[in-house]
Amino acid sequence: MQINENYQKLPGSYLFSEIARRTAAYSAANPDKTLIRLGIGDVTRPLPQAVLEAMHRAVDEMGAAETFRGYGPEQGYDFLRRAIVEQDYLPLGVCLEEDEVFVSDGAKSDCGNIGDLFGPDNVVAVCDPVYPVYVDTNAMAGRAGDYCARSGKWSKLRYMPCTAENGFTPALPEEKVDIIYLCFPNNPTGAVATREQLAAWVKYANEQDALILYDSAYEAFITQPDVPHSIYEIEGAKTCAIEFRSFSKTAGFTGTRCAYTVVPRQLQRGGAGLNGMWNRRQCTKFNGVPYVIQRAAEAVYTPEGRRQIQENISYYQRNAQLIYQGLKGAGLTVSGGINSPYIWCKTPDGLGSWEFFDRLLERANVVTTPGAGFGPSGEGYIRLTAFGEYRATQEAVERVCAVL
Ligand code: PLP
Repeated sequence: MQINENYQKLPGSYLFSEIARRTAAYSAANPDKTLIRLGIGDVTRPLPQAVLEAMHRAVDEMGAAETFRGYGPEQGYDFLRRAIVEQDYLPLGVCLEEDEVFVSDGAKSDCGNIGDLFGPDNVVAVCDPVYPVYVDTNAMAGRAGDYCARSGKWSKLRYMPCTAENGFTPALPEEKVDIIYLCFPNNPTGAVATREQLAAWVKYANEQDALILYDSAYEAFITQPDVPHSIYEIEGAKTCAIEFRSFSKTAGFTGTRCAYTVVPRQLQRGGAGLNGMWNRRQCTKFNGVPYVIQRAAEAVYTPEGRRQIQENISYYQRNAQLIYQGLKGAGLTVSGGINSPYIWCKTPDGLGSWEFFDRLLERANVVTTPGAGFGPSGEGYIRLTAFGEYRATQEAVERVCAVL
């Protein structure tokens, strides 16, 4: 019996366990202090009323023989796929067929599972800093090579630095890469890509026969009208890109679980249609999202649902503004926060990410996320999130400013 030895190459999940360890140690030594957490990437507002009502109705349907549902379509129910096509994409001028949309239990699973479709020798490019799922799932599949603890990099991955100099959007690679992960609005930097920047990526991918995996899990947080919400707003993207979206941050579904992935039928690589391959993969390994949850997701598209989710998004956006303006006012260099729930903050006085994390933990009793945990180019930054409670966020910003 042979295990997948790639798993043994994975470094421990250092970032969040180390944050938890340091936070617990501080709390144990200082039981009188109240910590405020601006590190979490999880929502805190409850599910909207329209979503709850739809869920209750669907639960009742499951309890009556006439309306009971067993296995549903692996790709998602038509009612939800139709709502996605008509309400998420048509307003952007993007025409999709319902069978190009695959409903799932999460963008995390889809971003990871999509790797089933790709051979082991592809050259994979990721942003640095990066959402760790893209890196670790490629490592598990043997596409990342070996991990070097000193550099914090995998030998076969191509890292695209996202720095203050390039506005946290990566330059096109000079060599040929096969698979490119892009995430805008970005986790962790909060940066967005312009239409022109995305057009350059689409041109590159079509010319090089490469594939873009576009994660737009945070598109609902875009406030500036000229920022694209979908890669398919760019001409030519349907022949080179797969897009991941999620109800998690848009509608508070992090614990409810519903997302979707778009695989255009025009997308061909190696003589095969990726839509058909993903359909085959999902039908074999996935049995669909619960009916109750899909009805809940459908309610997001009703007029009340839309209004209610927007209230929650606005609530978080207000937090983001508070953090952004507060830290900027205190003299820190900050970015993100305008089209994103994440604020990316340069550490002062040349402090390392972890040093600044410790300083804020010990002196302001505020928990953040050290940027170094997202990749080597995250060193010298911390990430703050807008998903907290408003008053707590307000107090956290006041405490941080007082320390600075
Ligand atoms: N993509 C990015 C960039 C994320 O930051 C997250 C969650 O934090 C996800 C995907 C996961 O989304 P889901 O809850 O749908 O699995």
